[in-house]
Amino acid sequence: MRTPLVAANWKMNGSRQFNEALLTQIVAGARQCADVDLAICPPHVYLDQARVALANTEIGLGAQNLSQYDDGAFTGEVSARMLADIECRYSLVGHSERRTLFGEDDGTVSAKFRQSQMYALQPILCVGETLEERDAGRTEEVIAGQLDAVLGVAGVFTLTAAVVAYEPVWAIGTGHSASPEQAQAVHAFIRERVARQDGTIARRLRIIYGGSVKADNAAELFAMEDIDGGLIGGASLKAEDFLAIARAASTTRT
Ligand code: PEP
Repeated sequence: MRTPLVAANWKMNGSRQFNEALLTQIVAGARQCADVDLAICPPHVYLDQARVALANTEIGLGAQNLSQYDDGAFTGEVSARMLADIECRYSLVGHSERRTLFGEDDGTVSAKFRQSQMYALQPILCVGETLEERDAGRTEEVIAGQLDAVLGVAGVFTLTAAVVAYEPVWAIGTGHSASPEQAQAVHAFIRERVARQDGTIARRLRIIYGGSVKADNAAELFAMEDIDGGLIGGASLKAEDFLAIARAASTTRT
């Protein structure tokens, strides 16, 4: 049995005051979904605030991004070592906004994945196709390419301490989630592709879904066999919505 993971990606949102209220409510409500792993990925500048708020809870701290380089002359960057130092447990890697808006290619994503694991941060590797690619019938080809690029560099064994997030680009922030069947088909494809290299690792791998997950569609998504939780953007900025999504992961698995 895979423990579901529900991770909040706040993106570039928040303020000290806003975060304090949100974190307090999430910590209080998280007790109702003890069988789900929760993670919060705030902007870097608020990581320490979140670290303090989440101390003595089971909720993991995550970064939204990290440098592909070790410490040194890389102005403006934040290294995996620093994120580990501030007690991050996870780091998003290859989010579609990083790939499209900041030009991160598969080589950069793979380097960040490796860097993350070198400092014992669990990478949450994001993969997903654009609408154009889906309409052209290229979804599996695109997902396979993004996954294989990382596995080719890091090796399948690294998936024992990593999470894969399937995030169709057309569903992120649009209000149009993939249907449970569409998402399940891609999740099953990912698991099967990993199984070709190692069946045990594939069975244990958490594959979470992201893209317009809301309180009212989470349960049907999380009920699918290969969907092990969610990566939540917009809805994670409201404690009641995020907690309702987390509870949906909990009740569908017990
Ligand atoms: C995301 O940013 O990873 C995401 C899934 O966003 P949203 O939930 O807003 O679609």
